[in-house]
Amino acid sequence: CGIVGYIGNKDAYPILIKGLKRLEYRGYDSAGVALINENQDLNVYKTKGKVSDLENFVVQKDISGNIGIAHTRWATHGEPCSENAHPHYSSSENLALIHNGIIENYASLKEKLQEKGYSFKSSTDTEVLVQLIEYIKISNNLDLLSAVQLALGEVIGAYAIAVLEKNHPDEIIAARKSSPLVVGIGQDEFFLASDATPIVEYTDKVVYLEDEEIALIRRHKDLKIVNLNNVEMLHQVKSVKLNL
Ligand code: GLU
Repeated sequence: CGIVGYIGNKDAYPILIKGLKRLEYRGYDSAGVALINENQDLNVYKTKGKVSDLENFVVQKDISGNIGIAHTRWATHGEPCSENAHPHYSSSENLALIHNGIIENYASLKEKLQEKGYSFKSSTDTEVLVQLIEYIKISNNLDLLSAVQLALGEVIGAYAIAVLEKNHPDEIIAARKSSPLVVGIGQDEFFLASDATPIVEYTDKVVYLEDEEIALIRRHKDLKIVNLNNVEMLHQVKSVKLNL
């Protein structure tokens, strides 16, 4: 299972696919990608099978955009199939989220959301998290970061996540607890990955996120890391050597 993300001046899709291939050694059953194009469409493509199956699936589809997130899934909740593959949309399709790990209390959260009228397309724990973020965001009229912070405060379990918001093509929000996540800092571009292997060919500057840290990965801005209470966290930029 693995996570890759990109924001910068280049086409995101080829970088994301290459990154997923570098993470294939971790094992997976499905793969998917979410991209925001220049019209601010948030496009999600996902399929059961290999990264190469995803590549076949997107032929003739719009894979443009210089911001995106990609995922390989190792199913824990719900069989391997395209509905259960990530990214998962929220109901409004304004948010797309990828997740490695397990949301232990997903069943009770799902019940609460169903009572509020939310319905679910997959049987994953992950879809509950993206719906919870959306519910909190809309009902409190919050920005994405605040909604992610509140939602993660309600979650029991392990996660590495990345979220995209339609109409916000300048920002990826990523967070982790007990599942690894690394941010790569390039020249006016950022990379995100489960480990440094997809990143090292582009930059040697990486930041390893700590538990319950949230990374704000924004175009033309410095990397900002906060905790669930919105306290800014100091982070160390480490240098990794290319060792392919
Ligand atoms: N628990 C999630 C699922 O089953 C994520 C699995 C993973 O780590 O890839 O979809």
